[in-house]
Amino acid sequence: MPSKPILFFLILAITAALAFSELAQSTQSPAAPSQPAPQTSAPAPQQIVPPQGEPAAAPTIPPKKTLAIVILDPAHGGTDSGARGSTGIAESEVVLSYARLLRISLEAQGLRAILTRQTNDDPSFDDRSKLANAQRGGIFITLHVSSTGQPGTVRVYSLPHTAPPQDAAFAPHTALLPWDRAQFDFIDQSRRLAELVQIQMAQRFRGSSDTPFEAPVRQLRTVGAPAVAIEVSSVSVPDRGPLDQMGPGLADGVARAVAAFRTIYESGGK
Ligand SMILES: [Zn+2]
Repeated sequence: MPSKPILFFLILAITAALAFSELAQSTQSPAAPSQPAPQTSAPAPQQIVPPQGEPAAAPTIPPKKTLAIVILDPAHGGTDSGARGSTGIAESEVVLSYARLLRISLEAQGLRAILTRQTNDDPSFDDRSKLANAQRGGIFITLHVSSTGQPGTVRVYSLPHTAPPQDAAFAPHTALLPWDRAQFDFIDQSRRLAELVQIQMAQRFRGSSDTPFEAPVRQLRTVGAPAVAIEVSSVSVPDRGPLDQMGPGLADGVARAVAAFRTIYESGGK
């Protein structure tokens, strides 16, 4: 039998040896050189590779600009009947019937169309523009019937390049300027659309100009899309008959012009 001091020493030595082996295992067991290596090296190339690949692939997909919708604006309405003939013809009623016919003709061309008013109410200029500006890929057409001009003819307007003089009145209201100049970037496209519509009108309605007009039409200023005004002459006819007879030709001509404009719009041309 070993003496007590020797036994104590042996126990101490065995305990130390066991402790050392545990320590050795604990430092080796995480397999430090093998596991952290994939964590630091393997994911890194995976994170770098896709960003390098994406910018290279992006230019091969051209951004497609689609003419998705036509916003039709029967002007006036509600207490504002617009131009009124001596026999009681109300501009607001005639333009609403034109807008309804136009929607059908546009849909026949495979285009979607919405109206700024469905009935005899009177949304504000800004509410009408707001509806238009909320659409992606839209064009805007406001419809009027004049009180003068050669009956049976049609005039198409877009905004002029130069700011109309009355714009100066808006200058102090700096917060309103961007909204008021919404049409600014679309002047050329609007002019192109006006040309196409006016040509169709000249072919259908004798005496109509074959080139469009420019005028500071209030409604067009706040529309951030290609936008034109169409004005039919006039409420100064004995009855609505001749104006109603113009409806189908007007609708078909405008729809064909819009269909032609669609190609220009979607190719990004002017
Ligand atoms: Zn009007």
